[in-house]
Amino acid sequence: MNLEDYKGIYVFIEQREGIIQNVALELLGQARKLADELNNKVYAMFLGDQITDQAQGLIACGADEVIVVDAPELKEYTTEPYTQAICQIINERKPESLFIGATTLGRDLGPRVSARIGTGLTADCTKIEIGENGEMLMTRPAFGGNLMATIVCKNHRPQMGTVRPGVLFAMDADKSRTGAIVNYQVKFNAAKFRVKLLETVKEDHNLIDITEAKILVSGGRGIGNKEGFEAMDALATTLHAEVSASRAMVDAGYIGHDRQVGQTGKTVRPDLYFAFGISGAIQHVAGMEDSDLIIAVNKDKNAPIFQVSDLGIVGDAKQIIKKLTERLEKQN
Ligand SMILES: Cc1cc2nc3c(=O)[nH]c(=O)nc-3n(C[C@H](O)[C@H](O)[C@H](O)COP(=O)(O)OP(=O)(O)OC[C@H]3O[C@@H](n4cnc5c(N)ncnc54)[C@H](O)[C@@H]3O)c2cc1C
Repeated sequence: MNLEDYKGIYVFIEQREGIIQNVALELLGQARKLADELNNKVYAMFLGDQITDQAQGLIACGADEVIVVDAPELKEYTTEPYTQAICQIINERKPESLFIGATTLGRDLGPRVSARIGTGLTADCTKIEIGENGEMLMTRPAFGGNLMATIVCKNHRPQMGTVRPGVLFAMDADKSRTGAIVNYQVKFNAAKFRVKLLETVKEDHNLIDITEAKILVSGGRGIGNKEGFEAMDALATTLHAEVSASRAMVDAGYIGHDRQVGQTGKTVRPDLYFAFGISGAIQHVAGMEDSDLIIAVNKDKNAPIFQVSDLGIVGDAKQIIKKLTERLEKQN
């Protein structure tokens, strides 16, 4: 088959417990833009159990066709059934490109699919553009984040990439959009299912992923210690916010890596981002600069974080957190 015979931009729609994840809508939004530029079509691959009734919403968010695989084998994510389903669709439909969210699930699924299909994968992209000949230019940080590498998959199809949550933009849902919904039957080879999910144990805290939070209370080395984080927790509770941090505080063991904002953490875009005692190193700023409103508190008036903040307060973060919490608690 010639490369030109491969058609369509495909997006893997990640859902958890039937809830479509933001990253899937962000990918759809970008795929729509790219497809319009290329005069191409957007296909959403929607896998799960009892999910078909949500397919229409994906058309409103940019898909031309939703390929639904609704099967009990896909109720909970495990690598093999999902890989089998996607590989069957790819082998039959021959997509030109395929994008998957670079979530824990996507980072497991993407490489497995690309290896089985025999194509390349650009992992953890932060940008996707179209090259001179219509090829995908997939950009990701390389060499420890010291440079950005743009990777092209020249000789194989689909061109595959996993893309970080929070770096692309979903389009506003347009209910007047029309498209097709196709129920796709996968022939599973259950003999190859080697992993059985016995139980899912959820942490009872940190339920909201920081990439999904509307308000983030983020702390850096200036917060100092465990008590500093407890104070941030209290503020977060009054604001119905989530707590996140700079890498310095993750490395110091005060908070888990899943709460790290930045180049080697997560990219966030909340409505409101508090940066308490965070200097504003470029690797941190890369993960939060697109937040709608940034309020920074730092005792150093020359701290770089003030260059990206909408409101800057020069002062002791610990004192300000305490006063703010007291004031908000009184108001509530
Ligand atoms: C390849 C690579 C990847 C990286 N990835 C990331 C990443 O994903 N995320 C990330 O965050 N970092 C990342 N880093 C690290 C980054 O370069 C910085 O070292 C880190 O962000 C600094 O964290 P910080 O701002 O908490 O600490 P510092 O830079 O030490 O800043 C502490 C700030 O607190 C202020 N302060 C001190 N006391 C107070 C007080 N009482 N009240 C108010 N302010 C006070 C100080 O003035 C200072 O500005 C990466 C580095 C490399 C090399």
